[in-house]
Amino acid sequence: MSTVFKRIIDKELPADIVYEDESVIAFKDINPRAPVHILIVPKKEIPTLKDITSEDELLLGHCLTVAKLVAQNNNLEGYRIVLNVDKAGGQEVFHLHFHLLGGRQFNWPPG
Ligand code: 5GP
Repeated sequence: MSTVFKRIIDKELPADIVYEDESVIAFKDINPRAPVHILIVPKKEIPTLKDITSEDELLLGHCLTVAKLVAQNNNLEGYRIVLNVDKAGGQEVFHLHFHLLGGRQFNWPPG
């Protein structure tokens, strides 16, 4: 069954898209946890980080390059990248994605 992110990729659902190329899409999170909260999503359907293979290494690296570009476009001086893995890791949408969060101070440990 396709996830909500697959439906956004296929343009069946609307989203506030801030970046797109042939392999990655980035759009604003519908429930932002920071002034800037953008999801960086590989178009390939990979449910979780547990499902990646060595074939995905370039794609995942590209996601981080896109995150850097989107952060620059939002004039973020510092930011946080989050990748929730499976239910125990807080993942709700089972299509691998990175959260780009910025525009406020982040603490460590995250709590
Ligand atoms: P996860 O918990 O899986 O790491 O993160 C899923 C994120 O997707 C959540 O932050 C949630 O707010 C966001 N989200 C869920 N459904 C939609 C949607 O339909 N549109 C957008 N733009 N974001 C969504």
